[in-house]
Amino acid sequence: MLFENWKENLEPLIDKYKGRKHPLNYNNTYQLLIMVILSAQDSDANINNITIPFFEKFPNLESISNSSIEEITPYFKKVKNYPTKTIWIFELAKLLKTDNNIPTNLTELIDLKGIGRKSANVILRETNQKAEGIIVDLHVIRVVPRIGLTPKYEDGNKIEKLLIQQLPYEIWNEIGMAFSFLGREICRPTNPKCDDCPINIHCNYFKNLNQ
Ligand code: SF4
Repeated sequence: MLFENWKENLEPLIDKYKGRKHPLNYNNTYQLLIMVILSAQDSDANINNITIPFFEKFPNLESISNSSIEEITPYFKKVKNYPTKTIWIFELAKLLKTDNNIPTNLTELIDLKGIGRKSANVILRETNQKAEGIIVDLHVIRVVPRIGLTPKYEDGNKIEKLLIQQLPYEIWNEIGMAFSFLGREICRPTNPKCDDCPINIHCNYFKNLNQ
């Protein structure tokens, strides 16, 4: 299918979710950075919860870099893989020193420990930077093969590469998160609510259902 068609076909989805804030309940880029690291393999709801007391005590990178791993560890005990994530966060705070040094481009973001392409793309989108890729999280990995945009892969980077090849640059910033919201709310792992889906007429899964 041509570039132009996908842009047009996916427009109702982008319209539905455009500009909607990520479910991580952050108030600034510092908080978002810490939360995306913590949220790997864990739920956004848990991270929203456990970071409330943490951010009260540690309001910026400087406050973390002036503390110690022992001091911050107790706040993260309910987070999956917390020992490693705690070290990453502490080292990152030591490296960047202040919130003003948080990178605003993909290359520098993925250089930080604990930040992969997905997290970097989330940070770029949420902070209104120029898109350099497409957000591919677990929801997107499930949704886009159903639509027929990519084959089924478990590797998000592989899916992102294929999406980048197929989708026009103008929609990169919004489409990843729009797929993710679609997956969270409508295109669930079992019994997707296809009748409520704004792009069902362009979806292979839906077409096969109705054959
Ligand atoms: S039509 Fe159904 S399977 Fe296809 S993207 Fe929408 S909800 Fe998912």
